[in-house]
Amino acid sequence: MRGFKASSIMRHLLSFSRQVRCRVVIAVVAGVVITATIAVVRACFPVPENYPIPSGSRDGWMAPAPRNWPSTPTMHLRTTGFGIQMSTATAVSDTPFRLMRQREVRVGWPLYAFKWSVNEYSDGIGYHLADESRILHGIRLKANSEDEASQWARIPLVPIYGGVIVDVGIWSAVTYACWTCMMWLRCRMRRQRKRCERCGHLVMPNQLQCTECGTATPVRDVPRHGSAIRGLSCPSSVNRGDG
Ligand SMILES: [Zn+2]
Repeated sequence: MRGFKASSIMRHLLSFSRQVRCRVVIAVVAGVVITATIAVVRACFPVPENYPIPSGSRDGWMAPAPRNWPSTPTMHLRTTGFGIQMSTATAVSDTPFRLMRQREVRVGWPLYAFKWSVNEYSDGIGYHLADESRILHGIRLKANSEDEASQWARIPLVPIYGGVIVDVGIWSAVTYACWTCMMWLRCRMRRQRKRCERCGHLVMPNQLQCTECGTATPVRDVPRHGSAIRGLSCPSSVNRGDG
């Protein structure tokens, strides 16, 4: 008895929510696209004039550093802007004289969702990629440019999983909410104009179905004897709607 009840409830929920499930899937896809787009666009346009300010001492490098580097950097610099955090950590070795530098950028909004890191050293003339290092999952946009902005502009490829989950969840929810509101408004406007809620075709007051798509129509003039019950309310027709 209980099993029968549970399965019938489940069946009811599944049949009721087929369009809802479809909309949830599309909203999640939109959430992923929005999250990635914000991160990539923000990473392509770092703020060069907003140069890092000291962030206090920290214990180690932000990302794996080459083995011949000191275990602890001597200085950390960090700046944050809308949807971006740019960090540098540096250490000095005497023989040979080298300034080791690691840079990391985190991007995303409202939480940081992606990052890249790079290990470099300076011989006093300019910075070079460190011997045992490589760009850690960031694609540089202008390979030959030396200016500060393009040095920081890379497409990040390392996900920050907590940030990805939260951002995708938020943007999916926003997409779903906006979509549902738009469908509900459209449905309501069509009802007020005495048009089919599903396809917008004009429906005569005495028609129980849309002649264009067959959708049952609410008959407000006859509130008793079942006509109004037979008609569809806005939310359910939204669920089976064409959105
Ligand atoms: Zn219709």
